[in-house]
Amino acid sequence: MSLSSSHRNPIQLKGKIILIREQVPLSQLTTFQNDGVFPRVIDFESIAEVAAFMSDHDPESFHILGRGSNSLINPDASVQTVIRLNHDAVQEEINGSTVRLGAGMTMNRIQEFAVRHGLAGLEFAAGVPASLGGMVAMNFGCWGRSVSDFISAIQIVDQSGGVRWITPDDAQFGYRKSIFSRQKWMVCAAELRLEPADPDDVKLRMLARIRERAQKQPLKDKTFGSIFKNPEGAFAAQCIEAAGLKGKVWNRVEVSASHANFLVNRGGATYFETIEVLHDIQSIVQNDSGIQLEMEVKLLS
Ligand SMILES: Cc1cc2nc3c(=O)[nH]c(=O)nc-3n(C[C@H](O)[C@H](O)[C@H](O)COP(=O)(O)OP(=O)(O)OC[C@H]3O[C@@H](n4cnc5c(N)ncnc54)[C@H](O)[C@@H]3O)c2cc1C
Repeated sequence: MSLSSSHRNPIQLKGKIILIREQVPLSQLTTFQNDGVFPRVIDFESIAEVAAFMSDHDPESFHILGRGSNSLINPDASVQTVIRLNHDAVQEEINGSTVRLGAGMTMNRIQEFAVRHGLAGLEFAAGVPASLGGMVAMNFGCWGRSVSDFISAIQIVDQSGGVRWITPDDAQFGYRKSIFSRQKWMVCAAELRLEPADPDDVKLRMLARIRERAQKQPLKDKTFGSIFKNPEGAFAAQCIEAAGLKGKVWNRVEVSASHANFLVNRGGATYFETIEVLHDIQSIVQNDSGIQLEMEVKLLS
């Protein structure tokens, strides 16, 4: 379904006109692109719009989404509204090698920004289709680095519409988690401490990381990234591979043949068949090695 097939309805919220899209294909909301349309999506163009919305709505009535690269969404979820922040809703600020970037910025745009200004640090995340807000909320990490290593402050809108900056300690970063897993606060911007560097070197390191990722992960497929968190002292991918599931196909869903902790939508996969596959993998691995895998992917059920 094309973008034009979803309807746009304007609403007025505390003097601001906000456009709501209705019946939005999930292929536009998540990188797994499972089947179905989602009832309502609001893309905010400013922090003031987020604040007006949050102060006026029950936190249980909406779901915050970034680029959907770690999300599996039920089109008939009990929550019927998804809210997101546009990539250009927040003005970029730069002070030496410290930058403030909007949470709606995609990793691709952040990489372009870093090359343009000769700033190093975030190359490890190059090639991932995520937003800065989702990376903060998930404490994105790989190859021994986490996004929290670079964060010095986070601007949020809280449940009552209050806008403020919080510290990394307040954010309670852990392994693929943060306070944003428990508090319905929207990350609107983050301050990152990067390193001055030659722009060409930054670009070369990014391209090397993208090549490395493309060799190890199904970057071109419809996938949501790591299915499960790594259990204590082990790797989820190894547990899945040891159970004989690497490359296994369940009709429209498959465990990637290039990385066993990635699930691929072969086309037209539904939310429920994908959930069944996730549960199958968990129980097969449990029987094989006794390890209980915990989901990393966030479900909107
Ligand atoms: C090909 C591929 C490779 C990947 N590689 C990695 C990897 O190496 N390391 C890794 O850690 N992850 C990886 N991922 C997973 C994913 O990219 C990360 O988890 C990323 O941080 C999610 O960002 P997002 O904007 O897509 O978040 P979404 O999927 O949109 O949301 C994820 C969670 O964050 C919350 N959230 C999103 N935006 C905000 C916001 N502004 N404010 C508050 N909460 C918010 C959502 O409510 C949800 O709970 C990969 C994914 C893919 C598809």
